[in-house]
Amino acid sequence: MTQLEKCEICPHRCGVNRQEGEVGRCRCDDKIKIALVSTHNYEEPCISKIHGSGTIFFSNCNLNCIYCQNYEISQER
Ligand code: SF4
Repeated sequence: MTQLEKCEICPHRCGVNRQEGEVGRCRCDDKIKIALVSTHNYEEPCISKIHGSGTIFFSNCNLNCIYCQNYEISQER
């Protein structure tokens, strides 16, 4: 995937070669890391109705929000 050779996928435009293992602000290389797959029951019933919904949490994030409620997933991989 040529976009990862000089990554400018998001506005940070780090320019790192993720295919060679370099990481930018998001700390992602060329692999997708999934932290959690689970059901989300009883949450936001106006969207998920009575059967709930599923959720996938991807590790890493390029936002680095100081009060992130998922800090272990978003910043500590
Ligand atoms: S933060 Fe990540 S996705 Fe964004 S440009 Fe940098 S390496 Fe690419």
